[in-house]
Amino acid sequence: MTRVSIPPLVDIGANLTHESFAADFADVIARARSAGVERIMLTGTDLPTSHEAALLSTQQPDLFAATAGFHPHVASTFTAEAATAIAELATRSEVVAVGECGLDYNRDFSPREAQISAFEAHLEIAAATHKPLFLHQREAHEDFYKILSARRADLVGGVVHCFTDTRAALEAYLDLDMYIGITGWVCDERRGKDLQEIVRHIPLDRLLVETDAPYLLPRTLKPRPKTRRNEPCYLPEVVTRIAECYGCEFDDIARHSTLNAHRLFTLGMGHAEKRR
Ligand SMILES: [Zn+2]
Repeated sequence: MTRVSIPPLVDIGANLTHESFAADFADVIARARSAGVERIMLTGTDLPTSHEAALLSTQQPDLFAATAGFHPHVASTFTAEAATAIAELATRSEVVAVGECGLDYNRDFSPREAQISAFEAHLEIAAATHKPLFLHQREAHEDFYKILSARRADLVGGVVHCFTDTRAALEAYLDLDMYIGITGWVCDERRGKDLQEIVRHIPLDRLLVETDAPYLLPRTLKPRPKTRRNEPCYLPEVVTRIAECYGCEFDDIARHSTLNAHRLFTLGMGHAEKRR
């Protein structure tokens, strides 16, 4: 029991199907486990990554769970056939959330009309399959809120992942009884400043933690890793910074966020639960 001093963590968002993990996948997982990360949700952002995330989750159900969806960046490729495939994936037990889906008006990689119709289709799939949502919103709060709130009664719930918006947006999502995902954005001494002020307003029973690996390497890591690639093993750094923002202990954030992840995504019997 070498991990006894580290409370189990759930990384609710890691893009481990990303090509940057192909060469040393087993090492990445071993490092995550040593760091106390006992469950990892693999983010599906298009058809291949959603299938891959589901496959990995059937192979290692104690460690992985999957999401299935189309990121707003690729919303213009979300065809009717893709919608059928995502809907089928969403019925599987290893797929615990519909998404990543939502709106991103920061990059606008897909036309906004395409983003909106893909988002609405994902809400439809989530409602039909009674699965929670894994949501992405960047600089699109107004449209995002309008679309989500209109369907909220039909949905079991979800997380607004990698939350980086304003206090008002936070309160709006909490009023919809959504969970809030916090990444290493909170470790950024420049663009994370506002988020550091806002984080403590998330009720502890609504907080989830995530790396969004390989993106958003925490800037507070010491020593600084040799590469820019983020990994689930750095999740404790995010939890440490969040605890500082709340003025509470690491264990408080770890315990609550892990319980929340199990509650929202019905992760089932993992190592974390067996030990209780
Ligand atoms: Zn995202």
